[in-house]
Amino acid sequence: MFVYADNAATTSVSKTALEAMLPYLTEEFGNPSSLYAFGQRAKEGLEQAREDIARCINADAREIYFTSGGSEADNQAIISAARLGARKGKKHIISTAFEHHAVLHTLKKLEKEGFEITLLDVHADGVVRLEDVEKAIREDTALVTVMFANNEIGTVQPITEIGALCREKKIPFHTDAVQAAGHMPIDVKAMNIDMLSMSGHKFHAPKGVGVLYCRRGIPLTNVIEGGAQERGRRGGTENVAGIVAMAAALKESCEHMEENTAKIIPMRDKLFAELSKIPHSKINGSLEHHVPGTVNMCFEGIEGESLLLMLDDRGVCASSGSACTSGSLDPSHVLLAIGLPHEVAHGSLRLSIGEYNTMEQIDHIIEVVPQVVDYLRNMSPVWDELQKGERPHLI
Ligand SMILES: *Cc1c(COP(=O)(O)O)cnc(C)c1O
Repeated sequence: MFVYADNAATTSVSKTALEAMLPYLTEEFGNPSSLYAFGQRAKEGLEQAREDIARCINADAREIYFTSGGSEADNQAIISAARLGARKGKKHIISTAFEHHAVLHTLKKLEKEGFEITLLDVHADGVVRLEDVEKAIREDTALVTVMFANNEIGTVQPITEIGALCREKKIPFHTDAVQAAGHMPIDVKAMNIDMLSMSGHKFHAPKGVGVLYCRRGIPLTNVIEGGAQERGRRGGTENVAGIVAMAAALKESCEHMEENTAKIIPMRDKLFAELSKIPHSKINGSLEHHVPGTVNMCFEGIEGESLLLMLDDRGVCASSGSACTSGSLDPSHVLLAIGLPHEVAHGSLRLSIGEYNTMEQIDHIIEVVPQVVDYLRNMSPVWDELQKGERPHLI
């Protein structure tokens, strides 16, 4: 059996999105900037997509800017707010310790330019506290950026409340909503959001296309210089087919959100219930504030990477939820941010499921994970020490 359980990493393109984009790859291949009617038809597709996406998040079409994805949207939002703040002598930015690297690395770059960055604690449950945001706000705060839902542990942040606080203090508020868009209701007006990032490939559109919502009145700084596309805020010929697909995918996800959630939750709950029976395991992140499909757990005495490779052999695509790329031995910054010791954070597993998964696939995961954990523990010198009492159990 093949089970794709890594939907927080990327998703398949839906049939609806594919069908919507095909004409723009074939007959309607015009450049939206061309003045003849053929180009203008591509422009119409582009503008219809802008309106459809705006409607999904209760924004105005003029507040939607297309980007190459979530990373670019995060970069542009943060750099724009930083430039705006700097012009008023404000060089302090508030964020959290468990943001995506598109946010954290942009903040690092600004720090080198003389900005001061406060990264808030996200507490053991993976939720940032409004009081902590309030305490961190200063006279010279130029931006608050807090992610909507975390990509590794799935916890959802008090966005509406943080937005209201920032509105009151007249500080721009950005949220990386890449893991929330298409999976949870978003209303930028009701939630007091000034800037918001989305990425198509996390909700069944193709990779390489995203959205930056920016409330009217907040000036954007160009990250990509070029032509006058996107009202002069983002140069480069638009990815018309990708954008049209993204609008179709978002519309479809928003229209079917309730039924998708109703399908995903029982699968997720079964995973949590069954995998929690593994001794010395731990669920990461509060289940009370959670996106539907993300499951993150730690199993003591094993390495997440070994677990992944063995699951791969058994047909299961999962993630360790760690930034552990190409041989780096650092555990996930997200799991460290919620206070897990290094040894525990190393043994993590993220399963992210979507509406295309089935209960049969969940049963397969439930069958193979305990077997693999057992196998790895039997070979693990750390587990041996834990068993002999030479080392205390941490979970
Ligand atoms: C995937 C992801 C991104 C990056 O989006 P890309 O379109 O892949 O650049 C940013 N933030 C979060 C929370 C993500 O999950």
